[in-house]
Amino acid sequence: MSNQRSIETICIQGGWQPENGGPRQLPIYQSTTFKYATSDAMGKLFDLESEGYFYTRLQNPTNDAVAAKICEMEGGAAAMLTSSGQAATFFSIINICSAGDHVVSSATIYGGSSNLLTVTLKRFGIETTLVDPDLSQEELAKAFKPNTKCVFAETIANPALVVLDIEKFARLAHSHEVPLIVDNTFATPINCHPFEWGADIVTHSTTKYMDGHGMTVGGCIVDSGNFDWEACKDKYPGLTTPDDSYHGIIYTKRFGKGAFITKATAQLMRDLGAIQSPQNAFLLNNGLESLHLRVPRHCENALKVAEYLSGRDDVAWVKYPGLKGDKYYELSQKYMPKGTCGVISFGLKGGRAAAGKFMDKLKLASIATHVADARTCVLHPASHTHRQLSDEQLMEAGVDPSMIRFSVGIENAEDIIEDIRQALL
Ligand SMILES: *Cc1c(COP(=O)(O)O)cnc(C)c1O
Repeated sequence: MSNQRSIETICIQGGWQPENGGPRQLPIYQSTTFKYATSDAMGKLFDLESEGYFYTRLQNPTNDAVAAKICEMEGGAAAMLTSSGQAATFFSIINICSAGDHVVSSATIYGGSSNLLTVTLKRFGIETTLVDPDLSQEELAKAFKPNTKCVFAETIANPALVVLDIEKFARLAHSHEVPLIVDNTFATPINCHPFEWGADIVTHSTTKYMDGHGMTVGGCIVDSGNFDWEACKDKYPGLTTPDDSYHGIIYTKRFGKGAFITKATAQLMRDLGAIQSPQNAFLLNNGLESLHLRVPRHCENALKVAEYLSGRDDVAWVKYPGLKGDKYYELSQKYMPKGTCGVISFGLKGGRAAAGKFMDKLKLASIATHVADARTCVLHPASHTHRQLSDEQLMEAGVDPSMIRFSVGIENAEDIIEDIRQALL
């Protein structure tokens, strides 16, 4: 690790490397296609025999530069951008799961991911068992089946704010010879490096802190390159046996640590096309350039807000993993000692009804279906993002029906607190 540059430098300098006389800023390759001198040169690209660009649905230089930056930030081997965080989750799973396969997932995950796994992927013949991430490794092991192909979880769960014991989950996954896929959206690589704790694949909704300004929906998949697909050859035939749609190429043999991402690009992007636009990748890159400055401020402000709320009589409970006494404080100190995230959740003694009244009176904080943005925003998951879930399912996903999800921005902390104070009057 010693020869790696620091995360602050990667935020600024990672990815795009200009050539002599080339543009210093990342160019937007606003082009669907790329020109070649000979028919043969183009043909080799279609066979994955040489590297290069031919059609933006598969790869684009702007996107690749931004993916390379996020890859370096996570300490990964290969990465790709996707059109959204949902697409990143979807691709990371179906790249190694087919009909008849099974996924073990933490129950405390983003509502969209929970829908994807338990409703849509189920329709495709991929089954998911949701587990309480706080159970012991022995208890969790009971969820595994012979056809389990991966474990999925979030470093800090949105909106439950459960901090994942990444080492426990990595041991669990690896003892069953499957990879651990971790959604690192909330912690970001500024605060947590899941690969250092044994995660194999990391996904992001770049829509959140990475963009940070509520401008672009996007996602990213990063592969550590550490999972040995060949060692469990029969489980992952898509990676370890010939791909007929590319003249019998075997991804693990031909691409080594790049196998997972190359397969996802060559097959899934080709066939499903959830590509990020180069324009959006450019805006995302701009966001990444200040991620190392924004994230610490989000955390600092969130802690102040959490402490303020904890001191109020009309507040029933406050959850923030960075707050001393929080159920996940110790785990957060282990996995993200620099800070957790800017999102806190709390419930008012008046429950559901009081939540609505409080939100309507906020002036600085806006009601928005968004989190992890420079601007403070607020949402009531039971009425908004998670409204498709029953109260029982809500509790299982770690979402109290009274829960207010408060995403603390990077405005002045005292101003945010004053807004909360006047709304609670
Ligand atoms: C928002 C979010 C997603 C989905 O990302 P989109 O970019 O909205 O598709 C996935 N995981 C987490 C943790 C999220 O917060």
